[in-house]
Amino acid sequence: MLNKFQKLKKNIYLDYAAATPLDSKVQKAMKPFLSEAFGNPSSLHSKGREAKQAIAKARKKISLSINSKPSEIVFTSGGTESVNLAIFGVAGSIKENKKFHFITSTVEHDCVIKSFEVLAGEGHKTSFVKTDKYGMVDFNKLKKTITPQTVFISIMYANNEIGTIQPLAEIGKWLKLENQKRAAEKLPKIIFHTDACQAPGFLDLDVHKLGVDLMSVNGGKIYGPKQTGFLYIKEGLCIRPQIYGGGQERGIRSGTENVPGIVGLASALEFACINRKNESTRLCLLRDYFISKVKKYDGHILLNGPDETSSKVKGITRLPNNINLTVNGIEGETLVLYLDACGIQASTGSACESGTGNPSKVLIAIGKSASQANSSIRFSMGKSTNKNDLNKVIKIFFYLIKNLKNINTLL
Ligand SMILES: *Cc1c(COP(=O)(O)O)cnc(C)c1O
Repeated sequence: MLNKFQKLKKNIYLDYAAATPLDSKVQKAMKPFLSEAFGNPSSLHSKGREAKQAIAKARKKISLSINSKPSEIVFTSGGTESVNLAIFGVAGSIKENKKFHFITSTVEHDCVIKSFEVLAGEGHKTSFVKTDKYGMVDFNKLKKTITPQTVFISIMYANNEIGTIQPLAEIGKWLKLENQKRAAEKLPKIIFHTDACQAPGFLDLDVHKLGVDLMSVNGGKIYGPKQTGFLYIKEGLCIRPQIYGGGQERGIRSGTENVPGIVGLASALEFACINRKNESTRLCLLRDYFISKVKKYDGHILLNGPDETSSKVKGITRLPNNINLTVNGIEGETLVLYLDACGIQASTGSACESGTGNPSKVLIAIGKSASQANSSIRFSMGKSTNKNDLNKVIKIFFYLIKNLKNINTLL
């Protein structure tokens, strides 16, 4: 059945939410630190100082991108480590030998969900706040979930599977008032963390506007190097280190710094901010073009997550690069493999979930059945995506759906 569509001459990559290629300008910035400027930033000599200065410059650059102080940035090995440091860093900093209450949502990345399961195993109370059918955290439910024992709320900025953007600034504003009341009642402060790993390319990271105390960001999703990231830690916040040793990163994250990685991360974030506005506008148009084609195609294809082309969804609520569809009756993995055979790379949702055979937790959380969740596919666009390529993808995608449906009915 693939005869009609010989493999495309050019590969079309549509899995930018899982991994992005290293930007050539980022690579150029990193290069000296992979060879001649190899010094250990802790060394006193000139080679050491050169590396130390590069880190200071990167830290400054990042702080400008998120409107923080340079001293509020701690470099890590990526999104997962930043999130773990935030969660266990707060849990470990609680001095009294008491158990506390931690809140997150049902649509978080596994690095949050799994960490919360560990917290629960350690005797803390945990709550997972439900979302609406678009994956938007139910703000009223969140407000009702807090108790006098609540010390931590973690809500992702934008969802990696269905692209839903959460109203962080609104939550941040409410928490600020709530914390003032709690201080008067001598209740513990509620610390607000966000997993912002999908956000930097499209959304404002100003930590003051968002009202967050902790923010996790990684480099591998923004055309920077993999295994790089940082945690923003608001000044004055007490975080227990998760890695002990030489006392690097103010003692919060020991180990010789990944100098080329840190330089690359800062450079990648800088470009993400510069390109943010234009890239968001460009990709929103492509996203909604794809979605409109899908709506016209009568193949029982459903959009998962918010639909900004619909009057029922108000404002900007979906990542510009995300399209997540349920194709009833066809397994997502089957589609991904056939598309790949045609030279198109898509995903069944979270890269971490795929291969396990388990339906996506996020799709289940927004009310999809297991079979609908298993029949889902995510296209995530990026720098190289253009309308011409998207037209080819749409054509092949619809052709595959039609033919795979026929195969299914034959079986
Ligand atoms: C990719 C991702 C992570 C994990 O980041 P790593 O750098 O792979 O550890 C966490 N949260 C979200 C939302 C992500 O998309």
